[in-house]
Amino acid sequence: MELERKIEILAESAKYDVSCSSSGVENNTRQGTVGSTQVSGICHSFTPDGRCVSLLKLLFTNACIFDCHYCINRKSNAIPRATFTPQEVADLTMDFYLRNYIEGLFLSSAIIKNPDYTCELLIKTLKILREEKGFRGYIHVKAIPGADEKLIEELGFLADRMSVNVELPSRESLKLLAPDKDPFDVYKPMKQITTVKKEQEFLPMVRNAPSFVPAGQSTQMIIGASPESDRSIVKISENLYQKYQLKRVYYSAYIPVNQDKLLPAVTTDPPLLREHRLYQADWLLRYYKFTTDEILSEDKPNFNLYLDPKANWAVQNYQRFPVDVQTASYDQLLRVPGIGPKSAQNIVKARKYYRLHLTDLKKLGIVIKRAQYFIACNHETPAGLIKDPEWIITSLISSKQYEVLKKHNTQSTSEQLSLFDVERFEHAKSR
Ligand code: SF4
Repeated sequence: MELERKIEILAESAKYDVSCSSSGVENNTRQGTVGSTQVSGICHSFTPDGRCVSLLKLLFTNACIFDCHYCINRKSNAIPRATFTPQEVADLTMDFYLRNYIEGLFLSSAIIKNPDYTCELLIKTLKILREEKGFRGYIHVKAIPGADEKLIEELGFLADRMSVNVELPSRESLKLLAPDKDPFDVYKPMKQITTVKKEQEFLPMVRNAPSFVPAGQSTQMIIGASPESDRSIVKISENLYQKYQLKRVYYSAYIPVNQDKLLPAVTTDPPLLREHRLYQADWLLRYYKFTTDEILSEDKPNFNLYLDPKANWAVQNYQRFPVDVQTASYDQLLRVPGIGPKSAQNIVKARKYYRLHLTDLKKLGIVIKRAQYFIACNHETPAGLIKDPEWIITSLISSKQYEVLKKHNTQSTSEQLSLFDVERFEHAKSR
């Protein structure tokens, strides 16, 4: 098969893997225009020092022996199949790299023949790149669940980052929708990567010694193909961050690609807003010291689609506010909608030298429009004293946002609007 045809087939099959930062981004590029992240197979990721790098995103093969219900590449689908050779992937990467199109490679794969064989092919590819071609660019590679530990370790010494995809948020769903996968095999490489990385930390520093997965590991969960609540998904992420020191959990709104009685109908829209809320909650876990139990309770296990999780928490805990910007601790400031880690740091630094005024807060990066209901500055609350949290909800939701949500107001959406009185909102906005 011609290399161009292989690229076409495998780039198409790779686009459902979102374990890199720009995958799934919709854009309006057309043939003949520039900047497409969808068709050309270029994606983005972040290096340990925070740099955004563009990666050549390839699927080694889509000729899978497994039959996961939710996957376009499952063996029962009649789609064109293709497999690169290790040399082809290495040559392609070097071609793109030398022309300055990319800074690295994102290499994933379906399971061809068996997990060990697939992993050996990936190792061979990375060895050609690293050892024969001297490629020192960034490599993100998929750890193949079920592959021998020695192979996973060998792969990890050739890559910068590895991802082990959890795919579905519970063992039950995994058993039902990915019957060929052993849930144990999914978590085993994750544990191994954590262990080997920890062992490495205690080894004496040797110059030019190979480093094991220096940019850490990540995972991906598909959202909306199975019935788990938002709370159970956030809880899994929290556990993964704590237990395996994951760098990122990526959430992928399920795009119905297969007609299957166990899955949402093919006409179902991907739950993009839910995916967005999950990323916001994930941010709260990683940078704002929130726990899952604070973000979502057992009584209300799904997101309020009208409010972001931080604003939702603040409104539900309105008795804790307003906080005085002059005296509040860093952690208290972090809980205020409109104040992020950077602006909270700015406040703490600035108030050592002078008394803060409302005009100072804007300069320090606070989004006053959001923070005004939750802060006090010079003994005054910028929005005046508001006793009714529902009024704040109304104010925080823009009319435009409300209209969009109302249009998509499915049954599950309205179930999630715990604090929100639609009639009241319409009345308040019409005044
Ligand atoms: S293992 Fe499952 S999810 Fe992965 S490519 Fe094969 S069918 Fe798709």
